[in-house]
Amino acid sequence: MKRFLKAVLLGALPFCLCSCGRQELRHVQSVDTAMGTVIQQNIYTAGGDCTDGIMELIRNLEERTLSWRLETSELYRINQAAGSREGIVLTEEMAAVLGRCLELTEASEGAFDVTVGPVARLWDIDGWAAGSRTGEFEPPSQEAVDGALDLCGVSRLRMTAGPDAGGEEGTVRLYAEAGTELDLGAVGKGLALTHILEYLESDPDVTGATVSVGGSVLTYGSRPDRAPWQVGIADPDHSSDNLGILSLEGQWCISTSGDYERFAEAGGVRYHHILDPATGRPADSGLSSVTVLTKDGMLGDALSTACFVLGREKGMELAQRYGAEALFVDKSGEIFMTPGMEPLFRRTP
Ligand code: ADP
Ligand code: MG
Repeated sequence: MKRFLKAVLLGALPFCLCSCGRQELRHVQSVDTAMGTVIQQNIYTAGGDCTDGIMELIRNLEERTLSWRLETSELYRINQAAGSREGIVLTEEMAAVLGRCLELTEASEGAFDVTVGPVARLWDIDGWAAGSRTGEFEPPSQEAVDGALDLCGVSRLRMTAGPDAGGEEGTVRLYAEAGTELDLGAVGKGLALTHILEYLESDPDVTGATVSVGGSVLTYGSRPDRAPWQVGIADPDHSSDNLGILSLEGQWCISTSGDYERFAEAGGVRYHHILDPATGRPADSGLSSVTVLTKDGMLGDALSTACFVLGREKGMELAQRYGAEALFVDKSGEIFMTPGMEPLFRRTP
């Protein structure tokens, strides 16, 4: 659990009332778990406690939309429909999410690919890291990896829209070849931030907030003292410590993908959960972590995964093409940043 608490939100005060202008603000905080990770909320509001509402929203997103494991989710039904001749009609949100994911697959030359499901299930690093597997972890054989890779790739998907999808304007239908398994693990937390942002924006009492969903953090509005938000970036070598702090004004999404987040070990080798779709193995691009700064949560989450797989040079290029700022930590601990990130980052002494 402690490992997941990497995004330490500094400046958090215990529950309090503070006077800001004429408005009495409450500072409400909560730490809970959902989506297999820790959710930390830190909200300034002139109204009631909205932390339970935000937890419900995250759990709904997982249960109804994103989980590959739960039979209640749309993604589960999509995976079940793989191989069927009639395909499956997507909800508007899923059509938009998958559309953006496919665009990112193209932009990242396949480094980001939500069809990695069969390879991700084969390694099951998430299961080993969560302690839900018993016995000794062993990396799968090359033969097994090759077999799983045969079931991956966006060329196995086809989307049709409108009358072609057998519906009205706006209807989108997905056809996937048999054996295809989509996995939205690389964008789920970022997508949660997008939903949380909408929720906060719809509550006129909330004046500022930071919410972290595992390695993805949302900042919103401002602190009562008008100081910038301070978001810690974990040190990949000691993930309970911060490598440095980002100082940010207003609304941002900060997403980190790292080899220290979820991993299993065998024979002294660490196998982490970010897979290179080109090899079917944990990505080995010389990086320990990538942090991406964007306005949009889902984009940042997808980019952090893509940049991790691509490595520093190509990752830097991709981030900048999307107008995102990025910070790379390589395996020797050296830090590289896009120019726009530099004035925002302060290294821990
Ligand atoms: P975290 O889940 O720790 O925030 P990421 O956002 O980097 O980390 O997502 C990793 C998850 O995404 C994996 O657990 C797996 O389910 C899925 N995944 C792994 N490799 C890729 C990839 N190359 N492209 C898309 N999804 C991936
Ligand atoms: Mg990601």
